[in-house]
Amino acid sequence: MGARPVYLDNAATTPVDPRVAAAMAECLTADGAFGNAASTHRFGREAARLIEAARGDVAALIGAQGTEIVFTSGATEASNLALLGSARANADRRRHLVTARTEHRATLDPLRRLEREGWSVTRLAPDAEGRVSPEAVREALRADTLLVSVMQVNNETGVVQDVAAIGAVCRAAGVLFHCDLAQSVGKVPTAGLARLVDFASLTAHKIHGPKGVGALYVAEGARPWLEPIVFGGGQERGLRSGTLPTHQIVGFGRAAALVASEGAADAARMGTLRATLWESLGALPCVHLNSPLAGGSPAILNVSFEGVEGESLVAALGGIAVSTGSACSSATAEPSYVLRALGRSTELAQSSLRFSFGRTTSAADVDIAAAAVRRAVTRLREVAP
Ligand SMILES: *Cc1c(COP(=O)(O)O)cnc(C)c1O
Repeated sequence: MGARPVYLDNAATTPVDPRVAAAMAECLTADGAFGNAASTHRFGREAARLIEAARGDVAALIGAQGTEIVFTSGATEASNLALLGSARANADRRRHLVTARTEHRATLDPLRRLEREGWSVTRLAPDAEGRVSPEAVREALRADTLLVSVMQVNNETGVVQDVAAIGAVCRAAGVLFHCDLAQSVGKVPTAGLARLVDFASLTAHKIHGPKGVGALYVAEGARPWLEPIVFGGGQERGLRSGTLPTHQIVGFGRAAALVASEGAADAARMGTLRATLWESLGALPCVHLNSPLAGGSPAILNVSFEGVEGESLVAALGGIAVSTGSACSSATAEPSYVLRALGRSTELAQSSLRFSFGRTTSAADVDIAAAAVRRAVTRLREVAP
């Protein structure tokens, strides 16, 4: 087995780009912009200036205004703010929310919390590829529906939803639309999304920025529908109190700017790597593709290997980092609820691996992984009862 470690788990997190790390380092020490952006002296003003520049770079990812960006600790907090904050702000009027069974836990779990507090939640079943139909969204709407939450790119399969059509359904019905874009940025076009959604969750660590920082896009018109879930100094126009982490936000901004200039080329390269990997793995007998090759995220390839436990396969792969199911829920041995919702059997869901690519993934990484997976699958099938 190759000794060189190979990282194919970029959908869980990506390494920080060295250019991002350099920008962050300049915001930490006494000779850098370490000030508190809320202070009015020159140290504070310098931090505030850098933060506002980063805000513009993050907003530009989706064609938003800087004033519509609320910095958070990541996409999880952003989605919690959108869902809990809008539900509580409108508790006396609208108590129904709509989502899909294949959403990330950062969406499903706040909605489950709201359900326990008395809200009503509809969870739509996707088709066999994982797509939620705009018609199903329309049919789920009620007179008291507040919000629809459907992600653009699924983190396990890479399937891309028709957010333009779903957004149009919501707009026509006067219902808010929240979209989780954590896996979208740098993989699929996001430039015009601000016009289509009311709230969008973003995160830095999936685009070669640091962990621990993200943002909620709040469309200007949706601001009155949202109240904060964190209270304190009133930062971020009252929507997210707490001292702004200059180094994190500057890192996020630099990562966003790099995606703007290099993201399309990165995505094209990832698409080629994904095609190469599938060409090799798809030649094995009894393998099932769980990712749509046409139109899906170029960064994700999810495959089930009949008769092989995903966990055994991961163990057999040694130095090759891949994921079974989503990293966030793989602490439990449960088969992926996303693949189950697509109609895959428990066995096939348990025999799946997610390979995911990033800016630093090389063709050699993919070749090493493909050879190792083919060897391991063949061997595990030989020893299987
Ligand atoms: C990673 C991820 C999240 C969580 O983002 P954090 O910044 O880690 O909180 C939410 N949704 C999706 C689709 C993700 O991939």
